[in-house]
Amino acid sequence: MSDVSVQLTAPNGRSYTQPIGLFINNEFVKSKSGEKFASINPSNETEITSVYAAGAEDVDVAVAAARKALRDPSWKLLPATDRGMLMMKLADLIDQHKETLATIETWDNGKPYSVSLNDDLGEVSGTLRYYAGWADKVMGQTIGTTPAKFAYTLRQPIGVVGQIIPWNFPLAMAAWKLGPALACGNTIVLKPAEQTPLSILYLANLIKEAGFPPGVINILNGHGRVAGSALVTHPGIDKVAFTGSTLTGKEIMKMAAGTMKNVTLETGGKSPLLVFQDADLEQAAKWAHIGIMYNQGQVCTATSRILVHDSVYDKFVNIFKEVVATTSKVGDPFADDTFQGPQVTKTQYDRVLSYIESGKSEGAKLVSGGEPYKNVGDGRGFFIAPTIFTNVKDNMRIYREEVFGPFVAIASFTSEDDAVTRANDTTYGLGAAVFTRDIERAHRVASEIEAGMVWINSSNDSDFRIPFGGVKQSGIGRELGEAGLDAYSQIKAVHVNMGTKL
Ligand code: NAD
Repeated sequence: MSDVSVQLTAPNGRSYTQPIGLFINNEFVKSKSGEKFASINPSNETEITSVYAAGAEDVDVAVAAARKALRDPSWKLLPATDRGMLMMKLADLIDQHKETLATIETWDNGKPYSVSLNDDLGEVSGTLRYYAGWADKVMGQTIGTTPAKFAYTLRQPIGVVGQIIPWNFPLAMAAWKLGPALACGNTIVLKPAEQTPLSILYLANLIKEAGFPPGVINILNGHGRVAGSALVTHPGIDKVAFTGSTLTGKEIMKMAAGTMKNVTLETGGKSPLLVFQDADLEQAAKWAHIGIMYNQGQVCTATSRILVHDSVYDKFVNIFKEVVATTSKVGDPFADDTFQGPQVTKTQYDRVLSYIESGKSEGAKLVSGGEPYKNVGDGRGFFIAPTIFTNVKDNMRIYREEVFGPFVAIASFTSEDDAVTRANDTTYGLGAAVFTRDIERAHRVASEIEAGMVWINSSNDSDFRIPFGGVKQSGIGRELGEAGLDAYSQIKAVHVNMGTKL
């Protein structure tokens, strides 16, 4: 084994070679300092392996590699159609390796293997293929002005982009950022989250195998405050794209101001799910369950506040409790029947438990869960019983703050006006769900809600063809869909004088 890879066997018996280096210029290298950090299996709290952690000096090297690649003829002059073909090739390779990638994702993150394999890996190759199709369709306009003059616009890459990824969907969030950035012809330095550093390093092998020129995609694991901030403040980075907490998003905006970088942010949420009195309550309860309990509740768009019309409140709560009790099976993420694995880290586990204490002390009614779940393996691991609080008041922390766990706050409303006002009474604005069989109400409420996305009679739909992002303190800019190209391209106007003489 080289000193930048280790041979590992995952809990499901799959053996593979795990790179542990920084991926710069299509090669794995040690960090300059030699510093490493451990990645922990959240199911049993054991160390999986350690990976090299980038420092500011490694960021310098990676940024230089990406800048060189930007001007390198093999990337700059590559016809856009061929760029799309490279992306297609990468998507094909990801599909070929999806069982290994899903295994690493589940081992490192704790999400159920079926979710990693079918949802996350499907999202990764699907997103790359979608943007591969866009690569040769990113174009400008011709604009006539006077008979003697006209202008045309070029839609050009922004340059070297720094991408900062969270741990809740490590590969999928990387694909959301790599896809449009590559389609538009940028080069990339990507920093994964330190909680989940492993799967993207395996994917890095496939980047090289697909035939991307060296330096086009560089991947640096490392700590947010070290490698992340070095990336954000680096004068050689032209744009920063970030997904993570609102607090860190604000810090990134401040840091990026120094060099006036183009920034897109996808941050936190406290998304409401409204259940009107005319809704199909069974369906509302099932979607509400997916909306908050999927991925251990670690979803930025999770519908973590459920607001129910008071005439159907008790009935809805009973059905919802039953759906959670029968569907949210907590267990080993490699077991076929597991719906919910462990929280990603001890920090997140402690954070959710602290909100459980907060809910109890503020007087909300705990109707389910509210404690660690210890019946998996030998009792270690960051498992939490799915937790439901009812009778939640608008001023409670559990109603206002993002918990990011299998944790839901349920409250009631009295009228449509009250529902919309309460739904909008938040600093966030990522998603919102509306359950009603009144078609006029559905569209009226969808229009009135302050959110980047609204789901009518559904929750948490996300599709690479559809723009994704938030308003208010949930973010700036959009990912996915055609709108996602705006974040990674800039318009240059070229004025042409056809013969006006002075
Ligand atoms: P975070 O926002 O601190 O981390 C996200 C990414 O930002 C990681 O790659 C991290 O290394 C990087 N980062 C952190 N500090 C940085 C800095 N100063 N400069 C540059 N990069 C930096 O999130 P967290 O601490 O892992 O989680 C805390 C909370 O954030 C969660 O409980 C949850 O509420 C929220 N969260 C939201 C999302 C989302 O999808 N919107 C994802 C993860 C976490």
